[in-house]
Amino acid sequence: MADGAGAGWAERDAAVVWHGFTQMAAFLDEEPVMVTRAEGRELIDVDGNRYLDAISSLWVTTLGHGVAELDEAVRDQLDRVAHSTLLGHGNVVVTELAEALAAVVPVDRPHFLFASDGASAVEQALKLAFHLRVNEGEPGRRTFLAFEAGYHGDSIGALSLGGSGFGADLYGPLRFGVLRAPSFADPSALATATAMVAEHAAELTAVVVEPLVQGAGGMLMAPPEDFAALGAACRDHDVLLICDEVATGFGRTGTLFASDQAGLRPDLLCLGKGLTGGYLPMSATVASGRVFDAFLGADPGPRTFLHGHSFGGNALAAAVALRHLQLLQDTGVLANVAARSAQLAALLADHLRPLRSVREVRVRGLLAGVELAAPGPDARWGRRVCAAAVRRGVLLRPLGDVIALVPPLTVTAAEIDRIVDVLAAALAEVAAG
Ligand SMILES: *Cc1c(COP(=O)(O)O)cnc(C)c1O
Repeated sequence: MADGAGAGWAERDAAVVWHGFTQMAAFLDEEPVMVTRAEGRELIDVDGNRYLDAISSLWVTTLGHGVAELDEAVRDQLDRVAHSTLLGHGNVVVTELAEALAAVVPVDRPHFLFASDGASAVEQALKLAFHLRVNEGEPGRRTFLAFEAGYHGDSIGALSLGGSGFGADLYGPLRFGVLRAPSFADPSALATATAMVAEHAAELTAVVVEPLVQGAGGMLMAPPEDFAALGAACRDHDVLLICDEVATGFGRTGTLFASDQAGLRPDLLCLGKGLTGGYLPMSATVASGRVFDAFLGADPGPRTFLHGHSFGGNALAAAVALRHLQLLQDTGVLANVAARSAQLAALLADHLRPLRSVREVRVRGLLAGVELAAPGPDARWGRRVCAAAVRRGVLLRPLGDVIALVPPLTVTAAEIDRIVDVLAAALAEVAAG
C-alpha cells in the first residue's frame, strides 16, 4: 500500500483478521484495498483512493452504497427495535417484508423462513426437502439432483450440493453424495437433468438449480427456454424444484427473479445477497404451500421443522429489505439493467472477444464473465488481471481464469465504458508478460 495517512492498516488487519478464500501468507503481497467509506458505486480506501465497485461487494450491492432511502430505513427502524427473535414470535417489520415479497416471488402460497446467509437458506431448503419425505411417509426419497459447477455456499450441506471446486474435493469425505447433472458449459445440461429426473424419480426428493446463470462456478449460462422442461419433469414426477436465486435474485438478470425468465415456479426458492440491497446480512428460504402444508401436524410432533438461526428475521435487515424491494419496483432500475447489459455485451463482443487472450464472453443482465485463454492456472492470469484493474481504480475479483463483471444495477453508461476500458488495459498488461 502507498505511504500516506492510511499506511499501516493492512498490516494491522493482517495481524488479527483471517480473510475468507485468501491465503494469509500472501495477503499483504496482494495489495489489499482497505476500505474506510463508500459513495455511490465507489469504495474509498484509507489513502483516499477511489475504486469503482465492479463486483458489487461480491454481488450483494444492488443500488449502490450510501443510498439515502436505505440509510433512512435503517435509521427509522433503529428508533423502533433492532432485533427480536422469530422463534415462536413475530416482529411487524418482518411481517410487512414477507407480505411484500409474497406478492412478487415466483412461488405459490409462499411462506418465508429467514436466515442470514445464502448458505443457510440453502441448508434450510435441503433439510426441508429431506424432512418433507419423512412427513409424507417416503423417507427413502432423499437423494438430490444437482449440477456440476453449481455453487450453493460453503457449509457442508451446501458444499455437498455444489460441484467440484471451492474446497469441495478437500471436504469430500464430509459431503453427502448427490446425483450429478453436467455443468451449464454443456449445451445439453438441462436436457440431461430432465431425463435424470424421470429415471431416478423414485429416489429423488429434489432438484437444485441456479436458474439461467451458474455464478461462482464461472458465470456459465444456459438459455431461458432450456429450463421449462426440467420444471415440468419435476412436477410430473413429484420431485421438488429448489431454485437457488441467491445470486440471480433482485434484478440481477434483468427481471426481479431469474425464475420468471426461465418459466420456473419452484417449491423452494433460496434468496440472499441482493435481498437487502447489500446493506445487511439476510437470506430467506421461500416454501410453497405444497411444502408448508406437509409440515402441519400435532404439537409436539415429528412434523415440526426443527431449525432456526439466532438472527433469522433481523428487524434492521427486514426494514432495509422492505424499502429496497419498493425501490426496485418503483424506480427504473430494471430498465437500466437491460440497457447497461446490452451495452456491456456489445462492448465485450467488440473489444475483448476478438483478443487471442480471451476464450469467451458471457453476459446475462448484469452478471457477466470474461473467460481468459490463459497459458495455464499456474500463470494466475485471473488474479493478475484483476490486480492490474484494481491499480487502475476498478475493483474486480476473478473466478479462476474467468473475470466476473457484476456492477451495481444502477451503473451508468460511462461506468460500463470505464470497466471495459480498464479490463482491456489490464489484460493487455498481463498478456504482454
Ligand atoms: C453466494 C451464493 C451462495 C452462498 O451465499 P452466502 O451468503 O455467501 O452464504 C449460495 N448460492 C449462490 C447461487 C450464491 O451465489
